[in-house]
Amino acid sequence: MRTDLFIGGTFGPAASGRRFPVENPATEECLAMVPLAGPEDVDRAVAAARACFASDVWRGLEPRRRGLLLARAADLLETRAEEFARLETQENGKPLFESKIDVAMTVDTLRYYAGWADKLTGATLPTGAGSFVYTLKEPVGVVAAIVPWNFPLNLAGWKFAPALAAGCTVVLKPASETPLTALLFAEVAEAAGFPAGAFNVITGDGPTTGAALVRHPGVDKIAFTGSTAVGQGIMREAAATLKRVTLELGGKSPNIVFADADLAAAVKGAQNAIFYGKGEVCAAGSRLVVERAVHDQVVEQLAARARTLVPGDPFAKGTRLGAVVSRKQQQTVLGYIEQGKREGAALVAGGHGATVNGKGYFVEATVFDGVTPEMTIAREEIFGPVLAVQTFDDLEEGVALANRARYGLAAGIWTRDVAKAHRVARAIQAGTVWVNTYNLYDAGAPFGGYKASGFGRDLGREGIEGYLETKTVWVGL
Ligand code: NAD
Repeated sequence: MRTDLFIGGTFGPAASGRRFPVENPATEECLAMVPLAGPEDVDRAVAAARACFASDVWRGLEPRRRGLLLARAADLLETRAEEFARLETQENGKPLFESKIDVAMTVDTLRYYAGWADKLTGATLPTGAGSFVYTLKEPVGVVAAIVPWNFPLNLAGWKFAPALAAGCTVVLKPASETPLTALLFAEVAEAAGFPAGAFNVITGDGPTTGAALVRHPGVDKIAFTGSTAVGQGIMREAAATLKRVTLELGGKSPNIVFADADLAAAVKGAQNAIFYGKGEVCAAGSRLVVERAVHDQVVEQLAARARTLVPGDPFAKGTRLGAVVSRKQQQTVLGYIEQGKREGAALVAGGHGATVNGKGYFVEATVFDGVTPEMTIAREEIFGPVLAVQTFDDLEEGVALANRARYGLAAGIWTRDVAKAHRVARAIQAGTVWVNTYNLYDAGAPFGGYKASGFGRDLGREGIEGYLETKTVWVGL
């Protein structure tokens, strides 16, 4: 594959010639050296995207044709799914079966938004006999998509698919830990026949490349997924040029288990909620909020399940817990585990780092019981396979405990009582609520945060609205 910047339809190195290593976190091998894009490269990428937007070859293309190009990209990606999945596992450390799901979801996202391209209608407005008024939906312009390392291609697709369908042009900056599938997708974009400059990829770190992109006056909108702290900085910086901003940020999502739940399903769901993706999932059910009457059996069963989740080679068939993304992330997660112990939480499973074949950055599936709302592990996003169990006595207390976090990305509810499920779903402050399930996604279902988890939505109709301006046209009669 080409490991160069993809700007204006061609691959090439950074102007400075600088490169940085991409590491396989399961083996500690260097996978590739990719360009570190500096301000000159950012300038060039934004200029290419701006020129394409201004020229009308993309936004002026018949909308159905635009949709067809997205659908073609989906088909091309699907035929190369295995190659993409393997590369995703190599750079991220997640089990191969998870990467296959990620690629399939990206294909779906492209197909879903391909269908939107020719359905972005405005309205006619009944303003009275003296005028004729209508609205037009227009693309917002050049979009900078800045994404994290946990679902590298899939989360990029959540941005570039709706942006391109809307007629915007895109400069994608993947995370420095996981830039390879974004670069491989540039090959797909090229083969699908997107005009030069419609889709660009620049690789680099946050402070150099990301910050230059955020500051750049040629960018109209920043679509960001990442940590809350970086999101706050981006919002501050974007104010200077009044860029549009959507922020998909961190989470500390509660998974509430009521005593009347199907406990076997709840335990399995709780396991999936925190340990899928090694817990490096923005919507991870990282707080298990469980009713006291069933606390002991739920925690016992969950801890037993956690102990069977042995970290393994991400390419091995049975592996359900891969490597965390980097040595730095492993240290962060282990630091939180130590803090949990220091602050008095009871460690009932896991708690250690691990290697596989003597290499890599792995963390055991970890469960802490007896976690109080004040403890750090109840408040801060750990972004690793670490579950904090909290207990409640009645519904109001359970809801209050669930809502007692600065974040509001997602929540789970486990109960057999339908009315209770809907009551609690309304009371929860989160952008997504799952009832008797967890971690389900669909390209048509909007996803995003309340509170410190950000604002704006990816996916669904709301997802594409974020790439459109509304123009109101008045005609005197
Ligand atoms: P991060 O905020 O460190 O980095 C995200 C992206 O921003 C990367 O591409 C990074 O290079 C870039 N970046 C960093 N500093 C920047 C700066 N100053 N200016 C511009 N760009 C900059 O996050 P991460 O560690 O890569 O990812 C983990 C975080 O992402 C977690 O907090 C997680 O919850 C969040 N996340 C949220 C969602 C969601 O949909 N809400 C989804 C996945 C991940």
